[in-house]
Amino acid sequence: MKIDSIQNGIVIDHIPAGKAMQVYQYLKLDEAEGSVALLQNVPSRKHGKKDIIKLDGVTELDWNILAFLAPDCTVNVIADGNTVEKKHLKLPETLTDVIVCKNPRCITTVEPGLHHIFKLANRETGVYRCVYCESAHN
Ligand SMILES: [Zn+2]
Repeated sequence: MKIDSIQNGIVIDHIPAGKAMQVYQYLKLDEAEGSVALLQNVPSRKHGKKDIIKLDGVTELDWNILAFLAPDCTVNVIADGNTVEKKHLKLPETLTDVIVCKNPRCITTVEPGLHHIFKLANRETGVYRCVYCESAHN
């Protein structure tokens, strides 16, 4: 795969440097149908360094997970070799089974069948709270 010549896919730009691997793992990109290229520590005029992920043959991602991990990233949707859409993501209101509550007395720790649900408590700081015990996750 030539990483500069994606025909149909997604380019995730402006990922904070060092975070691309985490994005890769949370989005389960090892199971992606198409080709995946991870570029790390790319010089960026705006932020010093950044990571970029290029996906060829992939058109859908879990945008909530991506927004949670890299809220300031830019998503370019590529069709027939051209950028047809630029998405700016927003922190999702709710995260279900993305992060795990670390409070040992939380009901999710005691009852393994429960979903781990977090609600956005503060959009400015990106703090999420467990819906069961209110524990914060930053
Ligand atoms: Zn909890």
